Amino acid sequence: MLRPDVELKNIAGVDAAYMALKDAGVRMVRGVPGYPINDLFTRFQKDEGLNAEWVFNEKIAYEMAVGASACGDRAVVVCKHVGVNILADPMIISVSHSIGSGIVVIAGDDVGAFMSSDEQDSRWYGKLAEIPVFDPSTPAEVYDSILGGLGLSERISAPVLVRVVDVVLREQGDISRKVLPVRHKKLDRSIWDYTMFGKHQKYLLEGWSQAAEESERSPMNRSSKKGAIGIISSGYVSNIAAGIAEEKGLSHLALGFVNPLPRGLVDDFLFGLDHVLVCEEVSPFLEEQVHMPKVRGRLTGHLPRAGPLDEESVRNALDNISMQGGIRDVELETLAGRGYAIGKCDECPYTPVYDAIKMLNVPVAGDAGCSIQAANPPYSMLIVAMALGSAPSVACGFNEKGIAMMGDYALLHTGLPALLNAKYSGKEAVVVLFANREAAMTGGQTLPDVTGLVKDIFKEDCVISDSGDLSTDKVYGDLKKLLEAKGLKIYVVTGSCPAGRKHKNMLA
Ligand code: SF4
Repeated sequence: MLRPDVELKNIAGVDAAYMALKDAGVRMVRGVPGYPINDLFTRFQKDEGLNAEWVFNEKIAYEMAVGASACGDRAVVVCKHVGVNILADPMIISVSHSIGSGIVVIAGDDVGAFMSSDEQDSRWYGKLAEIPVFDPSTPAEVYDSILGGLGLSERISAPVLVRVVDVVLREQGDISRKVLPVRHKKLDRSIWDYTMFGKHQKYLLEGWSQAAEESERSPMNRSSKKGAIGIISSGYVSNIAAGIAEEKGLSHLALGFVNPLPRGLVDDFLFGLDHVLVCEEVSPFLEEQVHMPKVRGRLTGHLPRAGPLDEESVRNALDNISMQGGIRDVELETLAGRGYAIGKCDECPYTPVYDAIKMLNVPVAGDAGCSIQAANPPYSMLIVAMALGSAPSVACGFNEKGIAMMGDYALLHTGLPALLNAKYSGKEAVVVLFANREAAMTGGQTLPDVTGLVKDIFKEDCVISDSGDLSTDKVYGDLKKLLEAKGLKIYVVTGSCPAGRKHKNMLA
């Protein structure tokens, strides 16, 4: 057990986060796998006292956290940015509803969509849900955001979101450990005296106002006024901005507590400056809130509209800060330009299934699991591949009978309600379910066997095969029959991913 109240050197961001959970006495952690938060969650799982479990989706994770919080236990939810979309439903409602002990949501944003189906800035959920958001730039700020966020969450009876990015989790820095005394604050049932609207009014009057006050005086927000040019930054980019501001003698406002925006602090900073560059990832969250003629950033074209920021782009923007209007040409990233396109592993047990589906020449939907690889060469056969678990509903929207490809993790994540809806509304589609009992694209987390469940629900509309017994011709014949038959059909293929498998780069 690490001892609190000590200064520690060279601590990685993931370890800083772990120490914050320990020093706050967190009793429950729930997470959903994905880049860039897998290592972070795995770190939490090594300590049994944190009660850290992967769950099937983010909505479940957040709802469990609310249960723990209502009974007086601090809880943390960990997910990637696309997962915040799934947990947004209960998270936003919980703000008016109220909570008990502190809840922190750690949202891992994949800047540049390096390992994700999109690039997304989780800070915006702070605006929508009206909750505090921290955007730490160093391991020390990761620690302070989580520990401080749990305390703040408890004071305002609403969750706090901490946005992290891969590089902040990996980098090392010094931290100062503290103890957040455990209060076991339970949900105050007097909230039920109010209507739903009344609950929202109460939160805005009490919780949100307090968060706004704390943002103004937070040590996570640091201002230094020097010259007539300034930089406002948040998150990891604050490190780049700080170095350049120091070298060039510029004013710098580094924000770590970004929502509610510390309006007074920002206005004081802007006053008297000729030009201000806003540096942030990955969208103009701050820039939109300080938009005025002298402000430059992603919206004005001085910085790239999306993606990571590097030192060169910040220097270039400062060199051109007096210019009005955009200064950048945008080169769209292509698979060929990037140099890789993820494909199936060698010896994938499902290869005959992919080959047969390609031969059938019908509309095919995949999702963000392994099936997304069928969008890339050599298959290039998906029309749509969106969020995990979306394939059945997308296929039910096709104007001819088509195929939905999904894994068992996608089924458990959000695909099951889609399947049930399709069955009970008499939709036409064939769902191919890869039952490999693991979340294969997100780190191989193990899953229960879903074949019995599917068989029970779909009975004669369900065909179960083992990948070891299949040839392309056999799968082709099976799927053709199912496509020609009336109604929703499920073709389940059991199998296991080979040990040490590695996705192939189809462009190599
Ligand atoms: S992870 Fe498993 S299912 Fe996915 S491509 Fe590789 S072997 Fe096939």
